[in-house]
Amino acid sequence: MTKVTVLGTGYLGATHAACMAELGHEVLGVDVDAGKIAKLQDGQVPFFEPELEEVLRRNIEAGRLRFSTSYREAAAWGTAHFLCVGTPQKRGEYAADLRYVESVIDELAPHITGPAVIYGKSTVPVGTAARLGDRARALSPAGEQLEVAWNPEFLREGFAIGDTLRPDRLVIGIDPVRPGRAEQLAREIYATALAAETPFLVTDLATAELVKVAANSFLATKISFINAMAELCEAADADVTVLADAIGYDARIGRRFLNAGLGFGGGCLPKDIRAFMARAGELHAHQALTFLREVDNVNMRRRTRMVELTREVFDGSLIGARLAVLGAAFKPDSDDVRDSPALNVAGQLQLQGASVTVYDPHAMDNARALFPTLDYATSVAEACKGADAVLVLTEWQQFRELDPADLTGLVRGNRVLDGRNCLDPQLWSAAGWTYRGLGRH
Ligand code: NAD
Repeated sequence: MTKVTVLGTGYLGATHAACMAELGHEVLGVDVDAGKIAKLQDGQVPFFEPELEEVLRRNIEAGRLRFSTSYREAAAWGTAHFLCVGTPQKRGEYAADLRYVESVIDELAPHITGPAVIYGKSTVPVGTAARLGDRARALSPAGEQLEVAWNPEFLREGFAIGDTLRPDRLVIGIDPVRPGRAEQLAREIYATALAAETPFLVTDLATAELVKVAANSFLATKISFINAMAELCEAADADVTVLADAIGYDARIGRRFLNAGLGFGGGCLPKDIRAFMARAGELHAHQALTFLREVDNVNMRRRTRMVELTREVFDGSLIGARLAVLGAAFKPDSDDVRDSPALNVAGQLQLQGASVTVYDPHAMDNARALFPTLDYATSVAEACKGADAVLVLTEWQQFRELDPADLTGLVRGNRVLDGRNCLDPQLWSAAGWTYRGLGRH
């Protein structure tokens, strides 16, 4: 078993640390946020991720997992260091802000005195890994013995444990000039997945970095494609959900990620496609990605369309309307509200004069911190009490299973607006509700 460190214990890092320990490795998680480290050490996950708390606790108790704020300790502890810090969008620019990944190198490398590998997992612009390698070797007494490899992460929030323990593929980018022992060490660390015949792709640094942004760009494009079809369906009085089913039966197209609705958000897809466009520009290859600007535009237009649809239902004015918004997280099974379409729409509705009450099963604290001026309820029933319309903006299972009978007598107006096309229109119409979805009549 290997001694590993995980640098940055946010969504990605906390999951990776717990799962590496679950695989039997001895893990030290490091973050600059002392409060987060104290919570994790105490067995508490500072965000919502199914199963993570049990895995975390089990491994802390077994003595395989602990947390610290010390880079000196990290350098002394392991020979494999996973870099998992954030790469957010720069303020006022499309490009990624690389200050956190750079600071990990600056803080760790000077303490490393012998052979070690830093595996970058954060999503970075192509070319970053090679640059970080130069920086690390220059700063470290270990010099050439310190390797930087790239191991992009494909986990999905809400399925993070399964995705980390049983990934659908593993990608390792190695510096072609100095191959070193990064591949061999990665094979040892991921031995369980490799024994299960998980595809293992060993490539150069640039390809490994590109794999991640290419995958996210493809997914974003697929979502925006069906949302563009939703715009056409709205114009032509057609139904995008039937259209998606019909084209999805073609195995070359596939039905997954073809749900028309409010579009994508969160801490990854929007900033990743923008950083990709910015990087393509630097590489004089911007033409290759101009389509991503349209992908972004289609996506953002869905939020505006949702607000317009709500206004239409209220005959052109939202002033005085009481709205129940179900959902605040950017997607179900997560409490992440970064660039959440649901909260964005809720905020716009409020600015147009509606009084908006939000309920989400897990994202209430994060939502309140980001949008303190919205009203928040502690249940679906409380949010819907006295509402003139109910908007479903994140497709939590609990909302998908809502029955009109659950809300009868609570709401003032029987109007339901389905921002995720996750309700059965017939069921709601039959119960006497006005049902409106995105891209369907
Ligand atoms: P996050 O904001 O949840 O976590 C980042 C963490 O890094 C924070 O805890 C922060 O305190 C810490 N940090 C900042 N500077 C540090 C430093 N110098 N040393 C140690 N810790 C430091 O972000 P995240 O969602 O976990 O994303 C991390 C990276 O992984 C991003 O590049 C993201 O694009 C990528 N990624 C995320 C997901 C996901 O689902 N969240 C999936 C795949 C890839």
